[in-house]
Amino acid sequence: MSVSAKGKVFLVGAGPGDPELITVKGLRLLQQADCVVYDALADAALLSHTPPGCEVLYVGKRAGNHAMPQEQINELLVACASRHACTVRLKGGDPFVFGRGSEEVLALLKAGVPCEVVPGITSSIAGPASVGIPVTHRGLSSQFTVFTGHEMPGKAESGLDIPAIAATRGTKVILMGMSQLRSTLQALIAAGMSPDESAAAVQWATTPRQKWVKATAGTLADAVEGVLGSPAVVVLGEVVTLADALAPAVPVRPLAGKRIVVTRSREQASALSARLREYGADVMELPTIRIVPPSDRQDFAEAVVDSPHYDWLIFSSPNGVKKFFEAFFAVYEDIRELGGARIAAVGPGTAAELKKYGLMVDVMPRKAVAEELIAEFDRKGDEFGGVANVTMLWIHSEKGRDIVYKELMKRQAIVDECIAYNTVPEMDDPTGARSRLTSEGADIITFTSSSTVHNFMAMNIPLPEGCRVASIGPITSATLKEYGIEPAIECEKHNIENLVDSILKSETN
Ligand code: SAH
Repeated sequence: MSVSAKGKVFLVGAGPGDPELITVKGLRLLQQADCVVYDALADAALLSHTPPGCEVLYVGKRAGNHAMPQEQINELLVACASRHACTVRLKGGDPFVFGRGSEEVLALLKAGVPCEVVPGITSSIAGPASVGIPVTHRGLSSQFTVFTGHEMPGKAESGLDIPAIAATRGTKVILMGMSQLRSTLQALIAAGMSPDESAAAVQWATTPRQKWVKATAGTLADAVEGVLGSPAVVVLGEVVTLADALAPAVPVRPLAGKRIVVTRSREQASALSARLREYGADVMELPTIRIVPPSDRQDFAEAVVDSPHYDWLIFSSPNGVKKFFEAFFAVYEDIRELGGARIAAVGPGTAAELKKYGLMVDVMPRKAVAEELIAEFDRKGDEFGGVANVTMLWIHSEKGRDIVYKELMKRQAIVDECIAYNTVPEMDDPTGARSRLTSEGADIITFTSSSTVHNFMAMNIPLPEGCRVASIGPITSATLKEYGIEPAIECEKHNIENLVDSILKSETN
């Protein structure tokens, strides 16, 4: 982001709820934001895309408290623009559909602040779609009307023309309609809408908390009583009858309603989080570690420069691969400079990372554990003429276990170390995940390495009541047991896919 004399504010539509339903442009702006202002409808998971140091301001409702008044939000945005080059004002759905987005733009322009609107997917369309209800369908509905259910029908200051809405054809969608639902539906029926008109309400559409009911205009208010609350989209019209036929096109969510905590570093969390979200889990990212350069950068740089002279390169983690090649390509331009070294990886995740550079592995155990890597060398070593007197570069993290080094040295290999990165406790908590874990609890908390366990324990957050622990493998489980925690779920193959499968298995049994 080029820094201008005065910053710019982007009003970005966050989409209906699922954090994957933001636009590519919205995501890019979040990734380069210096400041983000958000409220209750924008999923907190989106904030994990913000760069470190980004100022994050919440202006929505907090338990029992009102949201910040609109005038104050407007002033806040102007103030943000005076401090930051790129402020993202994140708004649920589309910023210009009942979001007061246009008021914010007018206030910003009046104050001379440059701004830009980035549209989003509105809940008025995505909400019905998330349960298989299209707002239009040839032969059933050629128009749709979206209106607010927040204004008291019949009141003089109401901008709504209920009789006209009742009389118009096609699909009707009500936003902010839950608190006045009964009176709105009564008014529509009094104005001529058939009480038998098909109707549905979808709460927390596209999120793990999604719930919905199907009824008729005459029965919907009773059907939602005590079952559904705000925020919900209400949809009226014949299109509602398509929901059964279209249900197979709606995502299946075996982990729906389960809150699962991901403790990996921010840069590594996304693959695991995305898989869990695909199955409908309410993923809470609570990074416990951060990946930083090694303490001795000079040593690392020299090891990378010398790397083409080794017989073997041994990679102990996907991060090691990433950091090694970042440094490698800072020095060399061509992958062929690496020479003809053989390559070993500690497991499939590391091998997959190597494959991104077009490199295949010669030795890899099925389980990603250092002991298994050594066993694999013992089994396959002869194919390569053994390891004695062979030069090896072991690329790993500063805090890694030294089994690989010791065991290979024992076998007379000549091993040098290349410490490619270090892990330190994560201090930032931009999404407020820590306090939410304490106040709202979780169903499952995942640990993907011993360091995630140690660092989580150092945060002193008690494990919520009834929360089960999922471990990526035996070493991580052993670390958990040191703290007196028995993992309820342990995966066999020590990789993310298998961890997700193990969670699915335990939840669907
Ligand atoms: N700009 C937003 C609407 C803001 S008004 C948009 O384009 O979607 C707030 C209303 O939006 C809520 O009262 C509810 O009716 C609806 N809404 C927003 N997100 C929703 C969701 N995930 N599920 C159901 N309704 C939602």
